[in-house]
Amino acid sequence: MASQTPKSTNNQARVFSKLLRFQKNNQFTECLFKSGRCSGKVVKCHSLQNSRFLEEISEEGHVYMPKSNQNGIVKLTKVGRKQATIFSGFCNYHDNDTFEEIENVNFNEIDWDNPRTLLLYSLRAISRENWAKKSGISFLSKIDSCIRKDDSESLKETYNDDHISIKDFSPYWTAHGRQHLKGLKKLVSRINKIFESIRTILRNGKKFHLWQTKKYLLNCKPLSGAASVFSPQKTPNGSHIQKLNLKSEVADIIINILPLPSEHLIMLTYHKNHKEKLLPLFDELDSLDSDKQEIIFSKILIMHCENMVLSPRIVECWNDRTRREFDNCFDQTITSEVDFDKIPNINLFRIDGNYPQAQPE
Ligand SMILES: [Zn+2]
Repeated sequence: MASQTPKSTNNQARVFSKLLRFQKNNQFTECLFKSGRCSGKVVKCHSLQNSRFLEEISEEGHVYMPKSNQNGIVKLTKVGRKQATIFSGFCNYHDNDTFEEIENVNFNEIDWDNPRTLLLYSLRAISRENWAKKSGISFLSKIDSCIRKDDSESLKETYNDDHISIKDFSPYWTAHGRQHLKGLKKLVSRINKIFESIRTILRNGKKFHLWQTKKYLLNCKPLSGAASVFSPQKTPNGSHIQKLNLKSEVADIIINILPLPSEHLIMLTYHKNHKEKLLPLFDELDSLDSDKQEIIFSKILIMHCENMVLSPRIVECWNDRTRREFDNCFDQTITSEVDFDKIPNINLFRIDGNYPQAQPE
């Protein structure tokens, strides 16, 4: 989910942008379902099921994910599939109790038209996002507290950088950091509402109609996966959908891209009250032929999904230029809003499906 942050134009901005990425490494350590039934500490769980989806796309136990390096630059990185897409948002009891229905079921028996199944996948995706953003808040709040207390040593330790100085960083933090923290808190309250709404529906077994899911099947061998949330501002053709500001209501879409044995199932889940706002996006997606759909969903992945995985089968076939374009573009979309037509045409669903010549300047 993009939040409104300035483009990196100078050194302080670079430091700040690094900070925004580091929040991903900081972890919120409470069960999101916190109740008397919690069974102790949070456990690591996969936002994309390891034994099912990650296995489909892995090679020798590995997949690729965007990860930030020590300088805060995001690059596609090879990781073991056991480590891919994990988050620690639930205790063991709540993880099993909630997701058992979609975990312990034979693949062929999954009913992709069952609203309960769809909402369980959505709940897992929104939970991961909730956990990631809450982790961000706890990290940025720590930074804020160091700066308010003028505590240089703690800042260095929290930020994991001996060179950072409060004197240099403080003006930038005051100008942009606090605003970002405020935006993030607002975002978490929105995500929390979605999380609670879906959880209540699943618990009570009624009002499933409140959340609707658009499904798309991409008829190509499993190469990519994602579980995330995004708030589209424009359609692929550039029509306006919404502005993201702190005052207006925002239409969010929970996105699941599931690599199945011979195709990709894409599920876009949204609240029924936002249908009208999102209709131009769905209409455009519906009108595209399958080649174009693959490209547009690839762009959505690059623009909006930090929590994505790619098969080594596709990444290791790319030439250096494609790899560089992917990394640059992914990196850029973390800190600024980028239009669809500025994203290179990299097809993440087909090994030979790139159209680099069509890239606009
Ligand atoms: Zn729990």
